[in-house]
Parts: sequence; C-alpha cells; structure tokens
Amino acid sequence: MKIEDLIKDLDPITIIEFKNYLLENLTELINHKNSNSKIISNNQTGNRCCNECGCILYKNGKTKTGIQKYICSGCKRTTSETTGTITYHSKLSFDVWKNIIDNLLDGFSIRRIAEENNISVPTSFQLRHKVLFALDNYIKNVQLENSAQSDEKYFKINLKGTKPKNMPRFSKKRTSKGNSTRGISHHQVCVISVIDENDNLFFKIGGLGRGTTKMLEDNIAPHLGNVKTIIADSVSAYQEFCKSHNIKLIAIPSQFHSDGIYNIAEINGVHSQLETWLSKFRGVSTRHLQQYLNWFAYIFMMKKRFELKKLKIESYKNIIIDNNYIKSNSIFQIPMPIDLNIAYAEYH
Ligand SMILES: [Zn+2]
Repeated sequence: MKIEDLIKDLDPITIIEFKNYLLENLTELINHKNSNSKIISNNQTGNRCCNECGCILYKNGKTKTGIQKYICSGCKRTTSETTGTITYHSKLSFDVWKNIIDNLLDGFSIRRIAEENNISVPTSFQLRHKVLFALDNYIKNVQLENSAQSDEKYFKINLKGTKPKNMPRFSKKRTSKGNSTRGISHHQVCVISVIDENDNLFFKIGGLGRGTTKMLEDNIAPHLGNVKTIIADSVSAYQEFCKSHNIKLIAIPSQFHSDGIYNIAEINGVHSQLETWLSKFRGVSTRHLQQYLNWFAYIFMMKKRFELKKLKIESYKNIIIDNNYIKSNSIFQIPMPIDLNIAYAEYH
C-alpha cells in the first residue's frame, strides 16, 4: 500500500483536514456498493485464473456499478471481481462484512452479531459460518518450522443442533461386530494440536479414542513444512510417524510436562486458553468443533503477529480477497467429523 507516498507531500494542515474529512465521511466512503470488488482488485496479486479451467482471465469491461468483469482465455466464461470470494452473491456492503469480521475476532455469539449488525439470527449464523469457512482455508496453509510441540486434547461428543431423525438410533441392529476391548475412550473426540516455535498453530479432529499414527499421518503430515523436531508426550503413535518423516522425536514421559530441557508447556498453555475461550459458547456441537478450533487458532496466530489495528486489516484481506466462497446451503451439509455408529456401538 502506498498511503505513506500519498501523504508525503502534504502539509500538516492538509493532513489534519484530510483526517477530519475521512472521519466525518467514513461510513459513506466505504459503503459504496462496489467497495468489496474494489478491495479485491486492489489487493490481488498476480494473474487471475479461471476457477473452471485454470486459464488466465482477461479484463472484459465493467458493470454499470463499476465492477470489473473478466473473460476466461480458455473456456470464455465471464466472471466478476467477486466470483469465488466470500462476497459472491452477497448484497452486504463492505461496512457490514467488516463489522462481522470485527465481531468474530472479538468472539461474539451469533445472537450478538445479529443485534450489532441489525440482521436476522439465521443470516448471522450463515455469515459467521462463511467467515469460519474462510479461516479453514487459512489454517490449511499453516506450515510448521523447526521445532514443534504436539499433544492431544479430548472432547466429549456434543450433538447440539442435530435433528432428531439424524440422532444415533440406540435400538438399531449392529451391522458389524464391535470391538470388545473398547473402553471409555471411544466416546471422546481426539483433537491433535501442534504449535511450533514461531507460533504457527493448528488443531485437527483426528477421530474417536486415543490418538493413532494414522491420525497423525492424516492431520499433521500436510503441515510438516520444514519441521525438524517434534516434542510430544510419550505416545507410541509419534514414534512411527516421526520415523517415517525423518523427524527427531523428543518424548516427554506422560504425567510430566518436561524432561528437564524440553517440554510441552506451550501446547498445554494453548489448551487451557482454548478451554476458557470455548466455555463462553456453552457447548459447541461436534459437527462445528473444527471450525471453532480454526477460529481460535486464527485469532491466536494473528495476535502473535500483529497489533490490533493491523490484525483487523490483515483479516479483512485474508477473508475477503481469497477464494473463500461457500454456498449457504453447504453450511448445513458440513459432515460429522466422527462416526457416531462407532461412538454409540454398545447401545445398538
Ligand atoms: Zn476457463
């Protein structure tokens, strides 16, 4: 951004005038119908590519409201600036999107977001999930560096919001023979948490019961980046995983958080912060748990990287500019991350 360059030649009086003008007209200035698309076009870097065929898009005139249109050099499909972004098919102004993102960074409930923005509760629910979906894409790109601490956190299954017809049926006949050695642990949702020395953080729902090598493989492997050491409590799952990825494992005996030199204090600290943060939502459904985990991880990382003002501007960019479009219908089709038939096997 070249705001510094713009201001460089102005005298102090003009700068103060400029500031007052901005403050007085802020809402009007950022409320233009096409402001979402302006932000997207100003901040996007490199060539735009077609979502359908991947060919380069060329500029193809503008709409009446000034939104840039594009045509694909391959399939000749036309698109606009907002295609594929969170603001696609949205009539909301940037001002409202900005407020909703602010509210989410502040951890507001759906009801509170509805009240603050003068929108209905169902709309608030949809918008929040759209933004959380955008964060999902952000978390997907987290890559670990050098040394990381890893641990598991277990959550109770929560079926809040599940329609009665979709609840696990306890009377249903078992389709396969259950494992008789199952203990209490298959009622617990296993979340794998990893943080590295640069505060890159993510949580992944691994499945039910104790963490396994396969859970680590499915959930940590895509984020390995150039991590060299993993510190974990001495769960055998890590031994095989670290060996096959050529990572040095430092195992901290369970019940200890430290072996004297190395420790997993940081990830344990993150877990207790997470617990406090989640408690204000009074129970998160397992179906949406991953989104809440991403939400927490996002705020955590941004707070480590930016001061508050910058954090918000970075978030508008992360959420509005990137390809984060999710159809409203898809929000209701988020799959259950665990297999309820396994969780409730003994009731069948
Ligand atoms: Zn195309």
